[in-house]
Amino acid sequence: MRERRYYADEWRACARSFPEILFINAMKSSRVLFLAGLVTGAVFLSGCGKKEGETAQSPDASATAKSAGDSPAGAPTAASGRQIEIAGNDTMKFSVTEIRAKAGESLSVTLTNVGTMPKFSMGHNWVLLKSASVLDKFVADAMQAATTDYIPMDRKADMIAHTRLLGPKEKDTVTFQAPKEPGRYPFLCSFPGHYQVGMRGELIVE
Ligand code: ZN
Repeated sequence: MRERRYYADEWRACARSFPEILFINAMKSSRVLFLAGLVTGAVFLSGCGKKEGETAQSPDASATAKSAGDSPAGAPTAASGRQIEIAGNDTMKFSVTEIRAKAGESLSVTLTNVGTMPKFSMGHNWVLLKSASVLDKFVADAMQAATTDYIPMDRKADMIAHTRLLGPKEKDTVTFQAPKEPGRYPFLCSFPGHYQVGMRGELIVE
């Protein structure tokens, strides 16, 4: 959400002329802000006319996304569930493919994208589903859900938890309770094609 809002701001700014951006920033009186405005203006200019996916590659955008992902994932989550660290990489694999948990146990899963490829071509998320029986339909719908980072909004009822879609070096934490019913619950990256080549695993509730 934070990221999408950032894009919206950026596109609005693109509609303005560069001198106007400078003027607005100058009016904020602080010299630091003015200098920041120069830099921001340059980023806006370089972002103008690019597709959203490409814009995501600007250092400014990834910095914003990083802090958005990092701050809620700090100390408070440490107390709210057993910590599980999972890495996703450019070869479309999770470092953890099996998680064992007690029924109803609080879990805190942190996904880190340790790859280097751009988000629009190699983004990763971690999505835990309520049942293997919904897998095929979920994966098919996720492929069509580019505007919501490959999370199909009309299939929210099929998900137990999910992280946001991560670009290189980004991380996100999601805290949830394991199902009360013992069984095997699939998790996957819903970026198109990643599940098919093995970016998946299971939460086994005992
Ligand atoms: Zn992926």
